[in-house]
Amino acid sequence: MATPFDALIIGTGQAGPALAARLAGAGMKVAVIEKAKFGGTCVNDGCTPTKTLIASAYAAHLAYRAADYGVELPGAPRVDMKRVKARKDAVVASSTGNVEKWMRGLKNATVLRGHARFTGKNTVKVGGEELAAEKIFIDVGGRPLVPKMPGLDSVPYLTNVSIMDVDFVPEHLLVAGGSYVGLEFAQMYRRFGARVTVIEMGPRLIAREDEDVSQAVKEILEAEGIEVRLDAQCLSAQKEAGGVAVGLGCKEGAPRARGSHLLLAVGRAPNTDDLGLEAAGIKTDKRGYIEVDEELRTTNPNVWALGDCNGKGAFTHTAYNDYEIVADNLLSNAGRKWSDRIPCYALYTDPPLGRVGMSEAEIRQKKLTALVGKRPMSRVARAVEKGETQGFLKIHVEASSKRILGAALLGTSGDEAVHSLIDAVYAKTPYTDFQRRVRIHPNVSELLPTVLEDLKPL
Ligand SMILES: Cc1cc2nc3c(=O)[nH]c(=O)nc-3n(C[C@H](O)[C@H](O)[C@H](O)COP(=O)(O)OP(=O)(O)OC[C@H]3O[C@@H](n4cnc5c(N)ncnc54)[C@H](O)[C@@H]3O)c2cc1C
Repeated sequence: MATPFDALIIGTGQAGPALAARLAGAGMKVAVIEKAKFGGTCVNDGCTPTKTLIASAYAAHLAYRAADYGVELPGAPRVDMKRVKARKDAVVASSTGNVEKWMRGLKNATVLRGHARFTGKNTVKVGGEELAAEKIFIDVGGRPLVPKMPGLDSVPYLTNVSIMDVDFVPEHLLVAGGSYVGLEFAQMYRRFGARVTVIEMGPRLIAREDEDVSQAVKEILEAEGIEVRLDAQCLSAQKEAGGVAVGLGCKEGAPRARGSHLLLAVGRAPNTDDLGLEAAGIKTDKRGYIEVDEELRTTNPNVWALGDCNGKGAFTHTAYNDYEIVADNLLSNAGRKWSDRIPCYALYTDPPLGRVGMSEAEIRQKKLTALVGKRPMSRVARAVEKGETQGFLKIHVEASSKRILGAALLGTSGDEAVHSLIDAVYAKTPYTDFQRRVRIHPNVSELLPTVLEDLKPL
C-alpha cells in the first residue's frame, strides 16, 4: 500500500523547499524527498561556494594591488588555501543546514532521504517505501556534463563538485570550457596563485554574449596572466608525468596544453535519466530535459517540473521563479507563465557582467531596428575612484518604441547596476522616461542615463 500525500516534492534545490513550505502552509500534506545534500547545486557546489571563493580571490587580488592604493603590506600576500576552503565550507554548511532545518521544521511536511523514482502515474518509490499523491513536483536539477573526449576515462579530472574538496593551489589548472562556470573558476584560481589555461572549443569565450563582451572578458583574463586557447576542436586527454595533457587541435599555437590538474566545465546534464519518467508518462527532449507547458506542467497533467531539469532556465533565480509560478497558479489561479520571464543573469568574474534582455545577435535575428549606447568604464566616476576601470556599459533600445531591449554591463558593480534596467525592461519603460529619473552619485547606475544620451544605429 502506497503512503498517501497531497503533494510529493522530489529534490530540495532552489524550487522545492519554497514550494514545500507554501503548499504545507496551505494545509496540504507534503512529502519532500532529497537524495543528497539539502539545497542542491546552488548551495553546495554552485552559487554559494563559488561566490564565497571568489570573495577570497578578490581579497588576494586587492592585496597584490595594495600599492596602487597607497597601502603598504609587510611582504607579498600569501593565500592559505586550507583557510580559504574552510571559510567556504562554513558558509555552505550554514546554508545547507538552514535548508534542512527549515524542511524538517515544517508543519504538515515529511522529509524522506533517498533516490526517488516513479513507479506509476501518481506513485514514487524511495528506498523500500512507495508514496502516492495527486500532485507531484520534480525539482531534480542537473550535474556536470562529462563529454565524450578521447582519453578522458584514463585521466583524473575535477568538476565543479569535486573541486569543492580542493584545499591546495594547483600548479597549473587546465579549465576545459570557456563559459560562465569555467571562467569564474579560471580567474579565482589564477588569483589564488595557479597558472591557468582556459581551453574553449569555439572561436570565442562566452559565445552567447556579443563579440565585444567576449573580447573584453578575454582581455581582462589575459591581463591577469590566464592563457586562453580558442578553436580547440579536437579535444583529447592523456595522462602525463606530473599531470595531464589536453590535445587541442587548435588552428594556431601548440597542439597540446599541459597542466597539473584538469577541470571540466563544459556544460550541465539534467538528472532525469534515473527517475522512472516512462512509468509516469512524462516525456523529455533529446537532451533529457523534461517537456513542460507554459505553466510548467509535464506531459502527465498531475506532475510539474521546476528548475534546471525543465530546460527553461539554468539559474537559481529562474528555478525560484518556477516555484512562484507553480504555487501562484495552483493556490491563486494566477495564470502565470514561465515565458513571461525576461532573461537576466550575471557572470561573476571581476569585473562582473550583468545582463538583461536581448543580445545584438537576438536583436538582428528578430529583425528589430535598434540603437546602441556604449560607454567605457574608464569614463564612469565611481569606477575611476575605485581603481577598477575595466569593461564598458552597453544598452540597446528599439528605435520606434524607445523601449530598452537589452543591456550588457561589464564593469565594477555591473551585476547590481543591471537591476534598474531589468525593471525598465519588464515595465516596457521608454528610455526617454528612464533618463529622467535621478540616481545617486557616485554610482555606476548613475551613468546609465548618460549612456543613453549618445545612441547610434546598431
Ligand atoms: C559552479 C556553478 C555556479 C553557479 N553559480 C550560479 C550563480 O551565481 N547564480 C545563479 O543564479 N545560478 C548559478 N548556478 C546555477 C544554479 O546552481 C542552478 O541553476 C540551480 O541550483 C538550479 O536549481 P534546481 O532547483 O533546478 O536544482 P538543484 O539545485 O540542482 O537541486 C536538485 C536537487 O535534487 C536532488 N535530486 C536529484 N535527483 C533526485 C532524485 N531522484 N531523488 C531525490 N532527490 C534528487 C539533488 O540531490 C539536488 O539536491 C551555478 C551552477 C554551477 C554549477
